Amino acid sequence: MGAKIEIRNLHASIEDQPILRGVNLTVEQGEIHALMGPNGSGKSTLANVLAGNPAFEVTEGEILFDGSNFMDLEPDERSRAGLFLAFQYPISIPGVTLANFLRQAINARMKAVDPDSEGISIPAFRRLLKEKMDYLGIDHKFAGRYLNEGFSGGEKKRAEVLQMATLEPKFAILDETDSGLDIDALRTVAEGVNKLVGPSLGVLVITHYQRILDYIKPDKVHIMFEGRIVESAGPELALHLEQAGYDWIREKYGTALETE
Ligand code: ADP
Ligand code: MG
Repeated sequence: MGAKIEIRNLHASIEDQPILRGVNLTVEQGEIHALMGPNGSGKSTLANVLAGNPAFEVTEGEILFDGSNFMDLEPDERSRAGLFLAFQYPISIPGVTLANFLRQAINARMKAVDPDSEGISIPAFRRLLKEKMDYLGIDHKFAGRYLNEGFSGGEKKRAEVLQMATLEPKFAILDETDSGLDIDALRTVAEGVNKLVGPSLGVLVITHYQRILDYIKPDKVHIMFEGRIVESAGPELALHLEQAGYDWIREKYGTALETE
């Protein structure tokens, strides 16, 4: 049986302001889940809490990874355990090529496991990188580019997908920004993710719009509203949202707490 992430009655605050108010969600390796919901409902907060962002305080509930407590782990330990958070790395590092960046990421991981590790050898890394780029249909020249310097939206996403492919996580969380990705970037992400999905990868796609779900087919769709998951169903739920919007969710689940 594959690994799973289990989120149970998760409450989290930022600056004493409760944002997550009892989230329950289980994602298994091999499954694709979509997390949708109006802006401000807490989707990105959930991604941050899963990644271990210290700005957010977990006040109640638990997160289990493979049955063991995930909350005691530092962010880098969570990444090493197999969690990958995409869409939050588009940093530009002057003078560092994408290949170098990826090699450093692999080496950091190997050294964390074994402090005496000398990291991956250059020939072994070249083989790995070539294999992943060929699989994803990425031009080899791309790895020689300086990280994010002059990258288009689509190229940034391509770099992230390549990073995901080389790190081989068990779970990937893709948080589409509220402004949304342009079509080129969207297709790049979706094609890459579709190539990487399989029995050993679980994916949580976080999105406000259903657009990305035209390309990435979720097994399950959840709607978050006011810090809770209020509806869960199959892919038809995303199509329904596309037509109906979120008004019915506000009517059905809106509380006096709502300020907007
Ligand atoms: P979503 O991703 O669903 O749009 P977020 O998780 O980004 O929602 O935000 C949920 C709520 O938390 C919003 O009301 C937002 O203003 C608040 N929030 C998020 N991040 C911060 C932060 N760093 N500081 C203060 N409030 C925040
Ligand atoms: Mg968000």
